[in-house]
Amino acid sequence: MAGVEIGGLSTVYPNGVRAVDGLDLGVVDGELFALLGPSGCGKTTLLRTIAGLEQATDGKVLIGGRDVTREQPGSRGVAMVFQDYALFPHMTVAENIAYPLRVRRAPKARQREVAERTAAGLSLSGLLDRRPGQLSGGQQQRTALARAVAVEADVLLLDEPLSNLDARLRLEARTFLKRLQRELALTTVFVTHDQAEALALADRIAVMESGRIRQLGTPREVFQRPADTFVANFIGSTPMNLLDGVVRGDGVECVGALLPLPADLADGTPVVVGVRPEYLTVAAEGIAGRVSIVENLGVTSLVTLECAGGTLVGLTVPEQEEPAVGDALHACPAPGRLLCYGEDGLLLGA
Ligand code: ATP
Repeated sequence: MAGVEIGGLSTVYPNGVRAVDGLDLGVVDGELFALLGPSGCGKTTLLRTIAGLEQATDGKVLIGGRDVTREQPGSRGVAMVFQDYALFPHMTVAENIAYPLRVRRAPKARQREVAERTAAGLSLSGLLDRRPGQLSGGQQQRTALARAVAVEADVLLLDEPLSNLDARLRLEARTFLKRLQRELALTTVFVTHDQAEALALADRIAVMESGRIRQLGTPREVFQRPADTFVANFIGSTPMNLLDGVVRGDGVECVGALLPLPADLADGTPVVVGVRPEYLTVAAEGIAGRVSIVENLGVTSLVTLECAGGTLVGLTVPEQEEPAVGDALHACPAPGRLLCYGEDGLLLGA
């Protein structure tokens, strides 16, 4: 078992792209850690640099307290699952999964047992005798995941481990991955661009942009108190409402309403007010607006409200109270759930 420590790490490609840019990060022993960010932010490069598949230009990588920055991938004690799976085409699913044990000359019965157990958890039981060429993309991905788990490495590195699965299988694989990770207390770093997946699975998340970490925290911290407007925009199935406002006394004037001020700021300060759709309800008073869009989600409906000087999205109302387009409504933010960002985009009063 081992944690991962990264200090001042930069990875620059020969073409000059600084994919990882002076990054510090600590993954605790036994933690399930997500690297989350938009395409091109450097997640995969960071993962590959931890694995030793890319050479760090600057800084250090420590695994289990040991400096592995200049070590070969094979001696770092990590197992990695790639986006393209890298399965052995001539071996069956069972042989692929058990391969790491075979290399270590584990008894045949043990190889079979590990293959069957991991395969069962990843819904691969019926496929143990097939070869990769006879599998769907999702099945190949699960086989690769099962093989990486069988390595019994100190640290498991996963690049978009669930990206190829359909919605139902993704949920199943998520549950399995989390349970297995808990059981084995396996330090796991996984890359994803899917904020919902990171929120659901990870103990902690690093939100990345341009080779740097914008925020590092628990899913709750990152969801409830995004450190800046970039993170606020990126996290949440419906993005946070970000609206221009001005501090007036002990309130903030925003979209035609005077809202409670969440931070101690001077009168007249321009701010961006952040409010998550999930924390908005229809009320007798609050932010006045007119319904412009109603989206039916089954049990609830998502309402967009045009207010004075801004649009509020994601107001959730029960199906039986669904308003009509053109209706006048008031939306009220839940107490303590408003956030204020400065002109530089950083959370105020953090
Ligand atoms: P995605 O989610 O699309 O996989 P990512 O966040 O994993 O993206 P990386 O693949 O790490 O991002 O890429 C980070 C930056 O480095 C990008 O600008 C990318 O174009 C660049 N890059 C990646 N691989 C190489 C390479 N081999 N040579 C040069 N530049 C590269």
